[in-house]
Amino acid sequence: MDNQQSEQLLQRKGLKKTKLRHALIQHFIKTQHAQSYADIKQALMEATDKSTLYRNLTAFEHAGLIHSINDYSGVTKYAFGEAPIQGNEHAHFVCECCETVYCMDGLAPLQLDIPKGFRAKRVQTIIRGICADC
Ligand SMILES: [Zn+2]
Ligand SMILES: [Zn+2]
Repeated sequence: MDNQQSEQLLQRKGLKKTKLRHALIQHFIKTQHAQSYADIKQALMEATDKSTLYRNLTAFEHAGLIHSINDYSGVTKYAFGEAPIQGNEHAHFVCECCETVYCMDGLAPLQLDIPKGFRAKRVQTIIRGICADC
């Protein structure tokens, strides 16, 4: 994705275009697995302070550009694409060896039988194992 495409993406999501946001989009597309705040900060190497980066990640998440993953490590990870909500479910694979978190897009959606009166907003499936790189 080039700058023009990421610009269109930001525009479509109603987000203001900034250099940092462009860099964030490029980074999420380039990386094949979920990123922690530390991963992102390290990769961008920009003089961006903690709160600015968090604010942008939150804005991205609200806009559906990225989704956050709780892998129970205590460190939130972020991955490109919309959150696995109903109709868009995908599982996450956590490697027990290298601790990398992957979105498993190829998995069939979970068939959830939610009782009447309940409203599912977010589905989180975590698969633990050893990844292809380990
Ligand atoms: Zn691994
Ligand atoms: Zn994911």
